[in-house]
Amino acid sequence: MAALGLVSPRLATAVSLSEAKDLFRTGKYEECASAVSDELLKGAWGDNWPSLLIRAELAQGKYKAAIASYEEAKRRFPTSGALKLLGQEVYKVNGRTREAKEAMEELDELIQLAPNRFSTAEGHLILGRFFLDQGADAKRVLDQFFDVVTRQAPEEAEGFYATAELALAKQDNGLAAQTLQKAPEDAEKDPYYHYLLARAFENDDRPRSKQALDAALKINPRHVDSLLLKADQLIDDEAYDEAEKTLKQVFEINIEEPRAWAYQAALAHLRNDPSGEAAARESGLSRWKTNPEVDHIIGRELSKKYRFAEGASYQRKALELDPKNLGIKLQLCQDLLRLGEEEEGWKLADEVFAKDGYNVVAFNLTNLRDRLAGFRTFEQDGFVVRMEAREADLYGSRVLDLLRRAKKTLGERYEVDLKEPVIVEIFPQRKEFAVRTFGLPGAEGLLGVCFGRVVTANSPASQGESPANWEAVLWHEFCHVITLTKTRNKMPRWLSEGISVHEEEREDPSWGDKMNPRFREMILDDTALTPLSQLSSAFLAPKTALHLQFAYFESALAVAFMEERFGHDALNGILDDLGTGLTINESLPGRLKMSLDQLDRDFSAFAKDRARKVAPDLTWEEPELPADADSSTLSKWLEQHPRSFWGLKRLAALLVSEKEWKKAKEVLIDLKKQYPDYVGPENAYMLLATVHRETKDPKAEREVLEELTKRSSDASAGYLRLLEMEEESKDWASLARDAQRMLAINPLIPAPHRQLARAAEQLGRRADAITAYRAFAQLDGTDPAENHYRLARLLKEEGRSDEARREVLQALEEAPRFLEAHQLLLELPSSSKPPESKAVR
Ligand SMILES: [Zn+2]
Repeated sequence: MAALGLVSPRLATAVSLSEAKDLFRTGKYEECASAVSDELLKGAWGDNWPSLLIRAELAQGKYKAAIASYEEAKRRFPTSGALKLLGQEVYKVNGRTREAKEAMEELDELIQLAPNRFSTAEGHLILGRFFLDQGADAKRVLDQFFDVVTRQAPEEAEGFYATAELALAKQDNGLAAQTLQKAPEDAEKDPYYHYLLARAFENDDRPRSKQALDAALKINPRHVDSLLLKADQLIDDEAYDEAEKTLKQVFEINIEEPRAWAYQAALAHLRNDPSGEAAARESGLSRWKTNPEVDHIIGRELSKKYRFAEGASYQRKALELDPKNLGIKLQLCQDLLRLGEEEEGWKLADEVFAKDGYNVVAFNLTNLRDRLAGFRTFEQDGFVVRMEAREADLYGSRVLDLLRRAKKTLGERYEVDLKEPVIVEIFPQRKEFAVRTFGLPGAEGLLGVCFGRVVTANSPASQGESPANWEAVLWHEFCHVITLTKTRNKMPRWLSEGISVHEEEREDPSWGDKMNPRFREMILDDTALTPLSQLSSAFLAPKTALHLQFAYFESALAVAFMEERFGHDALNGILDDLGTGLTINESLPGRLKMSLDQLDRDFSAFAKDRARKVAPDLTWEEPELPADADSSTLSKWLEQHPRSFWGLKRLAALLVSEKEWKKAKEVLIDLKKQYPDYVGPENAYMLLATVHRETKDPKAEREVLEELTKRSSDASAGYLRLLEMEEESKDWASLARDAQRMLAINPLIPAPHRQLARAAEQLGRRADAITAYRAFAQLDGTDPAENHYRLARLLKEEGRSDEARREVLQALEEAPRFLEAHQLLLELPSSSKPPESKAVR
């Protein structure tokens, strides 16, 4: 960061200050240092010259030389605040923390002695940075210093940089991006500007972030901050070799760079090379032994790879070196919350927020903690389940039932005995889910996340009209708990996702991902199918949302392939290997007795075989007709393409909308026969159901809806109609079963609760009926008296007279002349407790 301010008059020089700055800006650090040294010898005046020299030396890792330059500069410019800030950095990187502190004390004195000297834009920036270093309130620093600079000297980029740096430090990436966009046009020539932009977009817009990094490195290929951020992103992308190459570039510029050594240590850890990890860490700390950033970075990188326990222990080491560092505390806080060590985690969140009200993550977390305090908690059978009270009433017991079943089934299959409780938190609001999961809002498109023994999930309340089947989601997430526990979080994402999706399908054929026409096409098109040995890459930079879905689907297919071909024990063996630190591609050949090449070939053949078996008698050309083409236009097109799936599907939909029931039925029956697994938009089942309904054939309608619900886990519309029909025909057993299945999709609507209650009542399952009526009463207030009365009757039959009395009194409160209720009240035995005026439950 160049210092601002006036350039004092100086002797004519061979290199101007701006030329020297250009050398620095473009990464010609050696040339910059030697040109500036020459000028200084010739008597160049102004603290900008030595500042630039020191920065050029620091960039090359010439830390000792930087001390000499600093001390010389200090003699010449004893009142330069900018130099003192730089001096702090110089001493720190040399491990001379006492002198670093003294530099700040000297700056403090300068400020006290001559505050007027800091009334310029440059002075304000120095003051802001000084006060931040002293732990001042970030918002006040922004208001009193940085904002003043950007307002009063908008032509200077430095003010915008300072604001953006501060925002980034507080995880306020939005403000950082906004601020940088207001920076003067000239900033575009500065690699640091693009670097800050890359960080601002890092979480929300990776492609844009990468673009900014490219721009920075185009101006200055030796820009170390940018190279390190690039390495960081490459590690995220599991491109470890590339990351290592990038670190090598850094070492060629500055062999001392502690952050590069930290990344190197993290890489060694991920490669299961503990001695390499220790050696790199030591190199990072060789000069400045108490630099907390080294352990902080190693831990942060490991946490990004789900190694939260290892990450947390690095943050603890970092905290030992710098016990007051709030950034480290916040990282530790998030690690602990993900590890399920909640008490300490929340305490840290409070602590950070109390000291730093501006930190966005700390603010979000403390808000969330307060909200969670109002949630209902179930603690039983090795689970801690937290849900909003209303939702807990509606389906809390179903959540616990499902989890118990998953724990038994999956624990046995993967030979995992969970020692510690599993924490499951279900959020009715997307934002809360995202904050609990990532500290920040966002996380669109995710239904649930598992960190090991902590699972977070979105409730159906946050998913609009057609929510995903929450039972399938929880089964999937719980399967992650099992596989992550078994491997001690050391598994590639593809395998974890593949097993979870595969296990959904095993548990319920309607769960999991179906082979749809797009996936079929992607498998048969060689460019989309990722070789099994490279499946990690499929998750890293998916081109579209469809590609990401396909990554899940293909991973599950790979797991199905391995299990079918090599047996479930082989799969368990691979997970055992991963737990010992082997990488997946080290484990596969040994466990499967097959080279990776052969495995890739065999899997590809397996996948293609599955794809070819999808509707083998249909073809896949798509009609290129105008959107408003009618059925006769389409029929004409179909003369040339009589077996086209897309053509037939579109024709069927058109015929239904044209009320051509007979013709539509013919096409739909054929389509359903050819491709029974297609349950996507405008599937044959739903369209046929419409045809049967319109032609008054309830038996056929019900049959086709039953077929659909066997194949699709989230066909809400189909279920709701089916329930209606089952209720009409008083088929109580089917109604009870299907109402339960509908509640696995959406327990937050009244109809299926009422239907379940009615069916259970008829089947004599009084306890089920009571639960269901209570849920229904919560969701539907149209006839409260009738609800209370029905509940009272059931409770009386169950011998729960006190509860029955409360319900009947409530019924009478709603409808004082409700005769049957009066009658029922008389039939109840006299109360064992004094009656309560208001029911509580
Ligand atoms: Zn998953």
